[in-house]
Amino acid sequence: MKLNTAHLRYLSPDDWRVLTAVELGSKNHEVVPTALISQLSSLHGSISRSISTLAKAGLIAKVKNTTYDGYRLTYGGLDYLSLHSMIKKNMVFSISQTPLGVGKESDVYVVATPPNLHLTVNKTSEGMAEVAPAARLEEGAEQAVLKIHRLGRISFRSVKRSRDYLNNNRIFKSSWQQLSRLSAAREASFMSALYNHNFPVPKLISQNRHTLLMTLHRAPPLRNLQSCPDIPGLWARLMELLVRLGQHGLVHGDFNEFNLLCYEGTTEVVVIDFPQMVSVDHPNAREMWERDLEGLKRWIQRRWGWVVDEKTLPRWEKDVLKVIRRRVVEKVRKGKKVGKGEKVAEEEMEGPVRLDALVDATGFSKKQLKELEKAIRDQRGGDGEGEQAGDGDEDDDDDDEDKDEDEGSEKEDEGEEEDEDEDEDEEVKGENDEGDY
Ligand code: ADP
Ligand code: MG
Repeated sequence: MKLNTAHLRYLSPDDWRVLTAVELGSKNHEVVPTALISQLSSLHGSISRSISTLAKAGLIAKVKNTTYDGYRLTYGGLDYLSLHSMIKKNMVFSISQTPLGVGKESDVYVVATPPNLHLTVNKTSEGMAEVAPAARLEEGAEQAVLKIHRLGRISFRSVKRSRDYLNNNRIFKSSWQQLSRLSAAREASFMSALYNHNFPVPKLISQNRHTLLMTLHRAPPLRNLQSCPDIPGLWARLMELLVRLGQHGLVHGDFNEFNLLCYEGTTEVVVIDFPQMVSVDHPNAREMWERDLEGLKRWIQRRWGWVVDEKTLPRWEKDVLKVIRRRVVEKVRKGKKVGKGEKVAEEEMEGPVRLDALVDATGFSKKQLKELEKAIRDQRGGDGEGEQAGDGDEDDDDDDEDKDEDEGSEKEDEGEEEDEDEDEDEEVKGENDEGDY
C-alpha cells in the first residue's frame, strides 16, 4: 500500500468533510452506514458526489456482504487525513515520492517543511528543558521524516496467522488502523521521553493519527555504513547506549543494524524505531536485551571482522538491574516509602530516571498494549528486519484486500461486545489533531 498523494490537492472542502465523517463513524462502526456519514458530515445537500470521488481515489471503500450500504476508511484515507492536518498547520509542504524506507510495519518518507520547524516545537508536558541530542539536527532543517505506521501490511506467509488473530483471538479485536494509531502514539511517547533525557534519537515534531513527523538524520543505518574509522569506539558507543537505555528502564527490542543510524566516518549513532520497546519489568525484558546484544555482537564480527572481547560485554544483572535497584535502595534510605508503581519526583532520585514509568503514565490501557505487542510480534515474526517489504508490494496489496474482506465479515456483534469491555473505550492517544506534541 503505497502513499499516493495525487488526489491530495484536488479534494474539495465537502470531500474532506465526508472523509472526516467516515473516520468519525469508524470509531463505532467497522462499516459506516451511508446515512450516518451524511449526518456526521453536516452537509445539507447530497454527499453522493463526494462519496464517489473518495471511493475512486481509494480513500474509502464500499464493503460487500453487509446488510446495509456503507463504507470503511482505507489506509489511504487515513494517510490523507493525517497529511491534510499537517499541511493545514504548515508543517509539511510536499512529500518525496520515493520512500526513504519501507519496512514491514511502516513507510518512511522525506517531506519538505518550513526551515527549522523542529525549533518551534514546544517543550513537552514534562517541562523538561530542550536539549539537543548528540546527533546533528540542523543538517536536515528544511526536511523532516514522515513515518507512517502500517500494521497489518504483512508478508504473504504471515497473512494466515494474522487472520487468525482477527477472527479467533478474543483479545485482538481492534482493527489494524487502530493499532497503527496506537503504535505511532507509543513511538512518539518514547521518542519524546528519550530526546528529553539526552538520548541520541530524532526529535519528534508532530504526531497525528498513525503518523509521526520527526527530524531527518543524514546517517545511514549501520548495515549500510560504508566506512567506520573506529570500530572499538563504535562498539563502545553502542554498548553504552544499550546499557543506558536499560538503566532508564527500557529495552529497545530491535536494537540492531537496521535501527541504529550512524553518521559516515564517525561513531555518532542515532537510535530509531521504538514501538516494540518494553520496560525492564516486562517478563521478556532480559531475553530481549540479551538478544539485542548478541545480535549486534554477531553483526559487528561478521561485518567488520572485529571480535568482541567476551569479558567486556555488559551484563543484564550487573549493569542494568543492579543500577536500578541501587536507586530504589537510595530512595528508601532517604525515608521515602517506595510503593509499587509509586512515582517519585525526578529531583528525589539518584541515578537514571525510569522512562518506562513516564511512558506508562501516558494513558494506554494494559489491554491496548497487549494487543499492540502481539501484533508487532506477529508481524515481525522470526524473520527479522532483513526481509523488508517493498519488493513485494503487489503481494502486499493483495493481502490487504483479503484482509479487508475478512474485516468486513466479522463486524457488528463484535462492535457491540466492545462497549461492555471496561477499558476498551479509552481514547487512543494521538487520535485527533489535538494529539500533536
Ligand atoms: P520500521 O518500523 O519500518 O523498521 P524505522 O523507524 O526503522 O521503521 O524506519 C525505516 C527506515 O527509514 C530506517 O531504517 C531508516 O533508514 C529510515 N529512517 C527512519 N527514521 C529516520 C530518520 N529520522 N532519519 C533518517 N532516516 C530515517
Ligand atoms: Mg526499523
